[in-house]
Amino acid sequence: MSKQKRYFLTEDEIPRQWYNIAADMPVKPAPMLDPKTKQPVTVEQLSEIFCVECAKQELNVTDRWIDIPDEVREMYKYYRSTPLVRAYGLEKALDTPAHIYFKNESVSPVGSHKLNSALAQAWYCKQEGLTNVTTETGAGQWGTALSYASNLFGLNAAVYQVKISYEQKPYRRSMMQLFGAQVTPSPSMSTRAGKDILTANPNHQGSLGTAISEAVELARMTPEKCKYALGSTMSHVSLHQTVIGLEAEKQMEMAGDYPDIIVACFGGGSNFSGLSFPFMRHNFLDGAKTKFIAAEPASCPKMTQGVFEYDFGDEAGYTPLIKMYTLGHKFTPANIHAGGLRYHGAGAIVSQLYHDGMMEAADIPQIESFDAASLFAKAEGIIPAPESGHAIAAVIREAIKCREAGESKTILFNLTGHGLLDMAAYDQYLRGNLVNYQFTK
Ligand SMILES: *Cc1c(COP(=O)(O)O)cnc(C)c1O
Repeated sequence: MSKQKRYFLTEDEIPRQWYNIAADMPVKPAPMLDPKTKQPVTVEQLSEIFCVECAKQELNVTDRWIDIPDEVREMYKYYRSTPLVRAYGLEKALDTPAHIYFKNESVSPVGSHKLNSALAQAWYCKQEGLTNVTTETGAGQWGTALSYASNLFGLNAAVYQVKISYEQKPYRRSMMQLFGAQVTPSPSMSTRAGKDILTANPNHQGSLGTAISEAVELARMTPEKCKYALGSTMSHVSLHQTVIGLEAEKQMEMAGDYPDIIVACFGGGSNFSGLSFPFMRHNFLDGAKTKFIAAEPASCPKMTQGVFEYDFGDEAGYTPLIKMYTLGHKFTPANIHAGGLRYHGAGAIVSQLYHDGMMEAADIPQIESFDAASLFAKAEGIIPAPESGHAIAAVIREAIKCREAGESKTILFNLTGHGLLDMAAYDQYLRGNLVNYQFTK
């Protein structure tokens, strides 16, 4: 195994503000629309289900910098700065002249980047006098992050977890419960929506759609006490994630390199946005020429195969209409192991940026992502989340191009999470049981 070089910031250097790229975009994202009136939604409408501060951030396209509350920054210090790592081992394994770096978000206490936004959302809910938050989760990464954050700030979290995941992937459920959350398999008898679904089909296995319907219904039942929180897609979630890229900017400076290429895996776009946007502002404002690549699963290729149009952000049709690259909110992706990437659409900001040619996308077949993750595990000693494996695969493609062209480019990617709770998936990979899913409309 080759040496690794890791770069850290002091506590004082942890960012004090998030970066709001909407303020600098040449073309602003299209407004979100109320599905009934087709008029742009207001903060008042959004704050019927989201906390007020998140609703304001969601619609803010003018302020370039938004203060990180001190209390949130204190909690960031539990695991931030996250290391920026020069991946000498991977460079050597690929025999490439490229310089490869990764930002290791897997060191957060819940094992992924999702905590960066969960802490902010839980804090705002607490500030606004709420006592409860609710959300849905599939495999459980987002639910775990919100449970952890709610516990820190003294809120009760109610998480609706897709029933089949609740039963088949018990460890993240246990994590949520350890942090004090009430976890309910969805569909459940605790809401009107759940009862209706179960009455029609008592054996319903649940889906993100059923879980969202239940979480939103719970928030609407007691709006003065409880709000709904989302872990991806929305612009305020991307905003919170920019702490990743802002740190990386300083750390790359310490390393004496600047990224020619930035790669991140892509579910709804929050970690991609978080790493990329602070660097993209130098493309907009200072003539930098960094190339940005979103690595999406070939089975759920919303960017390369989707259409750019107004659609719902969720399967159940509760969110406002968002102008996004989408495969359609009723599209059910194949059951790939990278559960966090099984999402039909891309957030409004990334969609506009992709439309305007500011970024690219690469489609990664499932087996290629596990081959890449496995190579990375051997070369760097970290088992990546299957989601992150998609970014690594796209990095490997670029690093091989560098080798063939004899070019020493600098590549930076996001290691969004570790795969220690995904060993069942790796087991399937090692047995040769994985398949590639072909996207069909
Ligand atoms: C949720 C998740 C993702 C994908 O979500 P984005 O919002 O696109 O970032 C990627 N990696 C991990 C580990 C996740 O939990």
